[in-house]
Amino acid sequence: MKYISTRGNAPELEFEDVLLTGLASDGGLYVPKELPHYSLDEIRSWRDLPYAELAFKVIKPFVGGAIEDSALQSMINDTYAGFAHNAVAPLAQIDNNEYVLELFQGPTLAFKDFALQLLGRLLDHVLTKRNERGVIIGATSGDTGSAAIEGCKHSDRLDIFIMYPHNRVSEVQRRQMTTIKGDNVYNLAVEGNFDDCQGMLKACFADQSFLKGERRLIAVNSINWARIMAQVVYYFYASLNLGGPDRDMAFSVPTGNFGDIFAGYLAHKMGLPVKQLIVATNKNDILHRAISQNKYEKHPLAQTLSPSMDIVVSSNFERLLFDVYGRDGAALSQLMQKMNTETVEFDAQGMAAVRQLFDSYSVDDDVTCETIKQLYGETGYLLDPHTAIGVKAARECRRDAKTPMITLGTAHPVKFTQAIEKAGLEAPKLPHHLQDLFEREERFTVMQNDLDELKSFVAKTIFA
Ligand SMILES: *Cc1c(COP(=O)(O)O)cnc(C)c1O
Repeated sequence: MKYISTRGNAPELEFEDVLLTGLASDGGLYVPKELPHYSLDEIRSWRDLPYAELAFKVIKPFVGGAIEDSALQSMINDTYAGFAHNAVAPLAQIDNNEYVLELFQGPTLAFKDFALQLLGRLLDHVLTKRNERGVIIGATSGDTGSAAIEGCKHSDRLDIFIMYPHNRVSEVQRRQMTTIKGDNVYNLAVEGNFDDCQGMLKACFADQSFLKGERRLIAVNSINWARIMAQVVYYFYASLNLGGPDRDMAFSVPTGNFGDIFAGYLAHKMGLPVKQLIVATNKNDILHRAISQNKYEKHPLAQTLSPSMDIVVSSNFERLLFDVYGRDGAALSQLMQKMNTETVEFDAQGMAAVRQLFDSYSVDDDVTCETIKQLYGETGYLLDPHTAIGVKAARECRRDAKTPMITLGTAHPVKFTQAIEKAGLEAPKLPHHLQDLFEREERFTVMQNDLDELKSFVAKTIFA
């Protein structure tokens, strides 16, 4: 499979290079040149497959011939064997024809595990084959960091540096990052906010001279195509378990960077009958405003009880816009330049088409807590604040009661006890494998919001 940049001015790449590359050289994001498409008969034939076998079917065409089938299947098997539930992505029913897809059964208790536990294995495999070493620098508002560290800690081909905003991630999130043992793992608590971390990350990719050409810099945030690819699988899995592809499905997705819901859009384009995709946001609602009012305007960052969705701009939205603009990279490139500095409106016809599939909704902290409390009262089921935003948006935007409504359960409630307590409920207990999290030793380095300090720390560490 060939991959092209959304800005139309970077070389076409094969899977291996897309895996190892972050942004395209023209500043765009890589997307498949052509998507595989499946008939209903083919999709139906996958109905009884266990998660890891379904994952192999869905992922294989994206990898092309880059990795032998047996190696790919065994990496996928190992990845999902590490999840705490045999179904990997179980469905919990919360009302008539309404479900939560539990994507928090992985080692770090958020949906990021689906992609990052696999990504670590894919990177190690490819770097070993090439006899190369890589450096991961990542910026996280919480969940990406622990999942990436967990996924990469075993690789002796990788050094991993994770920046997070000092004192601004939840205690469970921080401890999940800082207590993972690994000689190749460095946690950097940056005196700044998530945007500052992301800004430094972008600057590292833009000028990699501090790596002296001896190491490859690898992205683990959702601009990395391999993350999106792994997330397509659970849309198929959920649908097949509820009577798909012979029924339409609706999905509500707690959204920040637009990676997770973009995977749902791809599943739809690959032939899965999806009737509705709901973009559920917190107060950081740039996507809600873009979809409902066709106005793309940056607002300052708001800190909320759902920190993993606290964003100013959503980088993966560019991948959808690429289709909205008829895959015209030059037109999109111009638009993206404009979006940096001013409020823009998108092509009206293109956005009307987007709204046939997508709806959007924004939920503030108070309503998030009310929703947690309400659902707990109705069912005894405890939602984390991100998932609660998804459930609320699902109930507000639902188009018909006959189509199963599936909210993606993006995190385990134990990660975000502040919202649970605000809802007047008791915080849940840590799952078995994290029982002693609060006794484990933490390792992190506090760092100024300073690019030179970051670069010299990385260089000093890897070339020591
Ligand atoms: C990352 C994350 C999200 C947002 O996902 P995107 O792919 O960035 O839209 C939502 N909920 C949780 C718990 C997350 O960790």
